[in-house]
Amino acid sequence: HSGFVAIVGRPNVGKSTLINRILGQKISITSNKPQTTRHRILGVDTDGDCQAVYVDTPGMHIEEPRAINRVMNQTASSALKDVDLVLFVVDSLKWLEDDKMVLEKVQRSKVPVVLLVNKVDQVKNKEKLLPHLQWLSTQHDFAEILPISATHGDNLDELRKIVRGHL
Ligand code: GDP
Ligand code: MG
Repeated sequence: HSGFVAIVGRPNVGKSTLINRILGQKISITSNKPQTTRHRILGVDTDGDCQAVYVDTPGMHIEEPRAINRVMNQTASSALKDVDLVLFVVDSLKWLEDDKMVLEKVQRSKVPVVLLVNKVDQVKNKEKLLPHLQWLSTQHDFAEILPISATHGDNLDELRKIVRGHL
């Protein structure tokens, strides 16, 4: 099993923290230079016979200025087709306008999308998450919906299992 896994989400939801956690600080790549024509390779997670290549998707670079972003976003949907799995990261407490922009790209994806609801460690009453999760589940036919904490490591083993199952 091997394949490409795109991590998407608005700034600050915890994408970098998650990727560092999955890959380990030492092998996560810090260069901003594109390393393939369509994707920037963030790192490779090898687990037995399974190899997951984590990539950043051009056009989903919402860290960039908005005007540039708009143009780049037009290519994002097609870039999402080149991967085997998409991880859509959201913050469990904050749903912003920028999340909606990413969601729109995700909704056009024909590739399986796993919804990662990050920062669950910040949610004191977990039941309060349910309405948000329920609403999100109506927005797209997600392959999985998984609450995680990138900083605490909650459910990251489960995430690895899910990724492996899709490659
Ligand atoms: P990115 O912009 O999506 O790459 O987000 P970062 O990985 O840079 O994270 C943004 C902020 O959220 C940082 O201050 C992180 O420490 C924090 N953060 C990321 N994941 C978690 C989490 O699971 N729990 C909490 N409490 N904070 C997190
Ligand atoms: Mg980042």
